[in-house]
Amino acid sequence: MKGTVFNIRSFSVNDGPGIRLTVFLKGCPLNCFWCHNPESRSPEEEVVKSSQRVGDKCFEVDETIGYEMRASEILERALADKAFFEESGGGITLSGGEPMFQHEFVAEILQLCKKHDIHTALDTSGFAPTQFFEQVLPYTDLFLFDLKLMDDAQHIQHTGESNKLILKNLQHLVDQNKKIIIRIPLILGVTDTVANLTTIKGLLQKHKAIERIDLLPYHNLAQAKYARLGTPGPSAYLEGYPKEKAAEIRSFFQESVSVVSIGG
Ligand code: SF4
Repeated sequence: MKGTVFNIRSFSVNDGPGIRLTVFLKGCPLNCFWCHNPESRSPEEEVVKSSQRVGDKCFEVDETIGYEMRASEILERALADKAFFEESGGGITLSGGEPMFQHEFVAEILQLCKKHDIHTALDTSGFAPTQFFEQVLPYTDLFLFDLKLMDDAQHIQHTGESNKLILKNLQHLVDQNKKIIIRIPLILGVTDTVANLTTIKGLLQKHKAIERIDLLPYHNLAQAKYARLGTPGPSAYLEGYPKEKAAEIRSFFQESVSVVSIGG
């Protein structure tokens, strides 16, 4: 089966344990205003203008974001890195966008990788029908699961969708005893309020099996991506997240979760 990918990163160290091959898939049904990967949201291939410098001249060229790949081609890329995975305890991570937007493609990649004894991780917003998660459960060793906003009205306001399905899917994965790392994007004044973080902490105290949180402080490195897409990015009104505040939030969560990292 073929799917649409927009980037593949070898030797990644922030998307799960060890050295990883991270495959970024196109398509995401959410619309988080702070999104770091705006080029991931549309499921289609997109043509954008980009500048290329040759000597002292600059040319505008068309660049296509997104390309089709077969699941077997992704397996080949993973097998090429297998020695590094074995050495470091790494594997493959499927990210996006929202990888479950192409859930059948994802299930095939994960199944192929497990057949070859490669560790698999799925980086998800949790926003997909529960039966899609059911389909990938047997082939997924680790879920990197985003929790953004616990208040449903705020979730709708800032991402465009309700969090009810996300929380249901998290509960489902916990009930299935899956390994889960919770990832929390830190957006000043939005996700980092005392009320939001306290509610997330309360939820994690109920889910003792979740032993790790990755805090993902907002940075405005995606501004160039927004410029290429011709849309205004969030950095005009969002500053990079303050380091001291991220450290305070790490201490807050360390009271109840054994591993809390900043930056994944
Ligand atoms: S879920 Fe992730 S990829 Fe989708 S819009 Fe939000 S930040 Fe972007």
